Amino acid sequence: MSQASPALRPGATIGILGGGQLGRMLALAAARLGFKCHVFSPTPDSPAFDVVHRVSCADYTDAEALDRFAADVDVVTYEFENVPAETATFLAARAPVLPDPKVLATTQDRLAEKNFITALGIDTAPFADVASPAELEAAIERIGRPAVLKTRRFGYDGKGQAMIENGSDPAAAWSAVGGQPCILEAFVPFAREVSVVTARDRDSTVCCFDVTENEHRDHILKISRVPAALNEGGAMQARRIAGAIAQNFAYIGVLAVEMFVLRDGGLLVNEIAPRVHNSGHWTLDGASVSQFEQHIRAVAGWPLQRPLRYGRIEMTNLIGAEVEDYRRWLAVPGAAVHLYGKAAVRPGRKMGHVTRVFAE
Ligand code: AMP
Repeated sequence: MSQASPALRPGATIGILGGGQLGRMLALAAARLGFKCHVFSPTPDSPAFDVVHRVSCADYTDAEALDRFAADVDVVTYEFENVPAETATFLAARAPVLPDPKVLATTQDRLAEKNFITALGIDTAPFADVASPAELEAAIERIGRPAVLKTRRFGYDGKGQAMIENGSDPAAAWSAVGGQPCILEAFVPFAREVSVVTARDRDSTVCCFDVTENEHRDHILKISRVPAALNEGGAMQARRIAGAIAQNFAYIGVLAVEMFVLRDGGLLVNEIAPRVHNSGHWTLDGASVSQFEQHIRAVAGWPLQRPLRYGRIEMTNLIGAEVEDYRRWLAVPGAAVHLYGKAAVRPGRKMGHVTRVFAE
């Protein structure tokens, strides 16, 4: 949606690329505001399909299906950042696509993303571009050990990553990531991991949610706690970093910035997710407006709300077979249980989450 196009009216249709739980929760938030959603996903049993007005189950390269989808919707957005850049560009010629597809081009490539962040004067772990085993050797010389080798593209939840410890063989790490273009990153002995979920609207207003502290197990988010254990200055700095990233992308919608907190309180940006984010799920039950509603408001050309947090919050992901605990969680006073309706339980698969809000 350009600055000039009118804001959507209730009853308009929002197109969502990707049909996972993020798309499902976006569609539920859109429905509450009177919008219809049309979800486009190549996966037949997409969780978002269950809750929307219309679905397109087709490949992201299916031009005919994309054409029909674009003709049916008033704006296109996404819940999945690895949508092929060509798909977003194809759609952008037919319908407004928000956030701008050029953001995807940056965030789909760890090297481009890191260069974008450092160009803003924001710190990241030291990193180097690695395109061959010889370049890996040179990068290790420069960055030191331990270090993490990460594929430039298509990494998530720790996939496409290999540690290079003292004494370990770089060639083994290079083959573990499939010998693809990579970055080598210094291993950060962080004190904690935090994220900031931020929304920006087309009037350039930025609204950040409170900083969230994230605990991972096996590289997958397990628990988010809000507020993060940062001092006032640290929390302000984290929000300032996320706001600067949103402004510099001229971003419209919600994005999340993951950061490492060093022992001295310094912040390093690890990653940008150009979409609603698992660490923002607490906002559904713990804030006056959710990340999903903020995203829908932004792409519809509606004003954002400055969120109020209702208390101290703990969000627990139900991963794989843990979803079977839902009955136990249903009995926990104050627990809000969210299940994504996924039929197949697989190890590591996010099946639902539970949020608890406590008085501060
Ligand atoms: P990523 O896919 O880059 O978000 O990495 C997944 C997880 O791996 C992060 O949330 C961290 O727990 C860990 N990790 C990634 N990069 C580093 C690093 N440079 N130093 C220490 N831990 C890291």
